[in-house]
Amino acid sequence: MDKISVYRFLSAGCNACDVEVLECLAPRYGLASLGVEVVEEPEKANVLILTGAGTVKGREALLEVYEKINPPKIVIAVGNCSITKNIFDKGYPIIGPLNKLIPVNYYIPGCPPRPQAIIKAVADILGVKIEEREEWWQTPEGFRGRHEIDREKCIGCGACAQICTADAIEVIDGPEKRIIKVNYVHCTFCAFCQDECPTKALKLTGAYHLLTNDLQKARVENEVNLLTCAICGGTFFPEKQIDWALKRIVEEKAPIYRDFSSEILDAVKICTNCRRSVESIKKAKRLLTKLSEKARATVLRK
Ligand code: SF4
Ligand code: SF4
Ligand code: SF4
Repeated sequence: MDKISVYRFLSAGCNACDVEVLECLAPRYGLASLGVEVVEEPEKANVLILTGAGTVKGREALLEVYEKINPPKIVIAVGNCSITKNIFDKGYPIIGPLNKLIPVNYYIPGCPPRPQAIIKAVADILGVKIEEREEWWQTPEGFRGRHEIDREKCIGCGACAQICTADAIEVIDGPEKRIIKVNYVHCTFCAFCQDECPTKALKLTGAYHLLTNDLQKARVENEVNLLTCAICGGTFFPEKQIDWALKRIVEEKAPIYRDFSSEILDAVKICTNCRRSVESIKKAKRLLTKLSEKARATVLRK
């Protein structure tokens, strides 16, 4: 392309993504230095930048704009609302995602993406080399970018998915494994999942150059083994979570029960269905009696 002329199309969102696109025009970020101009009429553009989630009322306007854009008609969705509808997903006037309405070539995830991410993405798409100045790419303290899961530390408990109000984290139980899947194109980068993770396995890193043309790759995953029920043989719970919980009980919370580690482990290795059987309830009661006797004896000794 000799000349890159961008037309911006705004849909429903908080508008922060559009503000970041506009910021790219400031001399500090220098979108113009890449040979990019922003135009006010779609007929003069050959690149379309989308921000926000598509709406029922905006659908016709978007289709019209897309028709008017000149070849090669490169369409870039900026920000998670335009990519997946993000937190506006359940809104009654919201349709989309936008790639269901018109072809989208590239996605720049973020909520919102930083201007640096947009500039770098546009440069990458156009094949333009830009100088990478360290201080320019640096993130401020506390910045929250793409997630990272420490595979050693993750116990597969799913607490991160439970706290996520954006439904960005899936817990998928297969026959033998549990998969924890963070779809960061659905994410608002609030970091609640990071705060909730009991083992500090989940972190929001400083990574923010997230340009992709394949949404299947816009995720961070981990998998853990599921435990087999000692009675029925069905899989029911992450193995590592059981180990973690047991360790907490006998090493941190109640070391007086250390002698009963293997009995406690046997008790928790039974799935919720089998725990309801008369025999399991009797066994659990016997164990609880032993534990309370041990606790009473310890208290009396003091
Ligand atoms: S992706 Fe986030 S910042 Fe961008 S419009 Fe949607 S809510 Fe706002
Ligand atoms: S940061 Fe975590 S909790 Fe917050 S929206 Fe993203 S995945 Fe969900
Ligand atoms: S990342 Fe943390 S909260 Fe999420 S499943 Fe793993 S251990 Fe649990």
